[in-house]
Parts: sequence; C-alpha cells; structure tokens
Amino acid sequence: MKITQIFQENKPLLSFEVFPPKPNYPIETIYRTLEELRDLAPDFISVTYGAAGGTRKRTVEIASRIKNEEKIEALAHLTCITHSQEEIDEISGRLRQEGIENILALRGDPPAEGAGQTDFTYARDLILHLRRSGEFCIGAAAYPEGRPDGTGMAAEIGHMQEKVAAGADFFITQLVFINEHIYDFLEQLAKKGITAPVFIGVMPVYNTRQIWRITELAGAEIPRELNSLLEKYVDSPADAEKVGIDFAVRQIADLLAHGVDGIHLYTMNRARQAREILRRLGMTVSSLPVADQ
Ligand code: FAD
Repeated sequence: MKITQIFQENKPLLSFEVFPPKPNYPIETIYRTLEELRDLAPDFISVTYGAAGGTRKRTVEIASRIKNEEKIEALAHLTCITHSQEEIDEISGRLRQEGIENILALRGDPPAEGAGQTDFTYARDLILHLRRSGEFCIGAAAYPEGRPDGTGMAAEIGHMQEKVAAGADFFITQLVFINEHIYDFLEQLAKKGITAPVFIGVMPVYNTRQIWRITELAGAEIPRELNSLLEKYVDSPADAEKVGIDFAVRQIADLLAHGVDGIHLYTMNRARQAREILRRLGMTVSSLPVADQ
C-alpha cells in the first residue's frame, strides 16, 4: 500500500527507521528487531540506503522482509549520488518485483573517496525520474533546522517546492529535538503552499556521546536542559537512555497535540525504547511486554 493511501485512512502516522547491518554482520541480526517493531503496529518501517556500497543491496532485502514477512508497509531509501540511471532503474525494478511501493528519494552524501557516475545531481532529479515510472509513492527529506552544509531556509523551502513539483508525495524530517523549530518550519511551508504531509523525525537518546556525534553531523540543536542532563550521565548510558525516553515521550505528546502529520522514530535498530515510549504515550496495546534486550 502507498503511504499516501495509509495517510488518508490513519492520520497521524507512526513509522520507524532501521538501517542495514554492516556487511560483516549477518543480515539476520536485524530480523528479531523487525519482529519486535512489527508488534508495535507502525504504519510503515523505512530502511536506509547505505552510504557504504556494501550495505546497499541489503536495503532491498530488508524492505522485502518488512513487507512480505512482517506484513508491514516498507519505505526503501534510495540515494542517487554515484549511481547511473541504469543502476537506479535496476534497484527500483528490484523494489517493484518485491512489491515495495514506497521510496524515500535522496541525493545522499558525497563519498570520501572515489566517485562513480552520477546521472541525477539532486534529489529532485531522482524524484522526477521515479515519478515518470508512475508507480511509486515518493518521499523526500526535509530539514527544519537547516542543513549542516549551510543551505539557507529560503533556499531549502525552494528545494522542497521543487521536490513537490517533481512528484514528491510526502516529507520526513531530519531528527529535531526542539518542537518550536518544527512549528516555525511548518508555518513557513504552509505560507509557501507546501501541503504534502511532513512526518517528524524523532530520535530517542540512547547514549550521550553517540547523540553528540549524531547531532553534530545532522546539524540538530539539543535543548540546553536536555544537554545538561546528558552531560551529567555521559558515563552512564542507562541513565542517559532514561532521560532520552522521558524527553521523547514529552516531545511526541506535544507534537501530537499540535496535530502533526506523523512521527518517524529513528530506532537505531532497537525496539526497546520505541516500545517504552509508545507504551507511555498510550499508543500500544498495554499487554505488550516491555522486555529488556
Ligand atoms: P538535495 O535535496 O538534493 O540537496 C542536496 C544539496 O543540494 C543541498 O546542499 C541543497 O541545498 C542543494 N540543492 C538541492 N536542490 C538544488 C537545486 N535545485 N539547485 C541548487 N542546489 C540544490 N543519506 C543516505 O546516504 N542514506 C539514507 O538512507 C538517508 N536517509 C535520510 C533520511 C532522512 C529523513 C534525511 C533527512 C536524510 C537522509 N539521508 C540519507 C541524508 C541525505 O542523503 C543527506 O542529507 C544529503 O546530503 C542530502 O540529501 P537530500 O536528498 O536532502 O538532497
């Protein structure tokens, strides 16, 4: 089923993101997580497309597992950097064969070394190409706090307009901790007539050093109060995780109260935090066990 169809029936949407295990780990290492995430009844699960070539093939395999074994709708990420049109057609053809109807179309980050042929310069160009095949429901990335590469907000919103014009059906945001930034952003999109649904990326903190690394790369701001607590628990991941869960519960409750289109949880391939957050929000059947992993 296409995500736009699910959205018509079931707003706000709840989705999870996973990433393929590194090539030296068996692909099966993610299967248990997928089963646990399935039990939380998300509207869809997305699978990232590896920057490292080694995990790229696994995206199709995992998306297929989500769709055909776990019977949850799958969203396959696809980046166009260092891909020829032929390669893109080959991957989208495999997705089609597996029954995957949803693609998150991205440019991707330029690789540190070596560059293959790139036929599509921007995500917009990839979206346009996929749209011509007419079969996929297409999502794109959005950046409510701007991009680390310094793209200004006016330019960013211009790029989003281009993505919609090219055929994007919905957006998923970069992880954000400060809801006011999201509300400002949504207001700006509305002013520019962008009406495509925007699913808000929320990442529960698992570990202080890890979240510092991730937010630096993503250009996401951590609220001062949250950061003080994370500093306090820099060497105590279990406490940092509790702080992260408390924060995510409050953040999501506020987002839902503001009527956002959907919540996209960056799970980091773990189900425990997602399960606990949803339980506390009353978004799961209370009988679901909150087991330790
Ligand atoms: P674009 O929107 O094409 O933007 C790329 C750059 O080009 C920006 O600097 C932008 O300002 C500029 N630009 C865009 N359009 C134009 C134009 N018309 N003229 C001039 N300049 C333009 N990366 C992965 O490798 N794999 C993933 O699975 C993945 N998943 C992601 C999921 C989400 C929800 C998000 C938010 C990001 C994800 N990324 C992923 C990261 C993403 O690939 C990078 O942020 C990448 O640098 C930009 O991708 P984009 O699709 O936003 O590119």
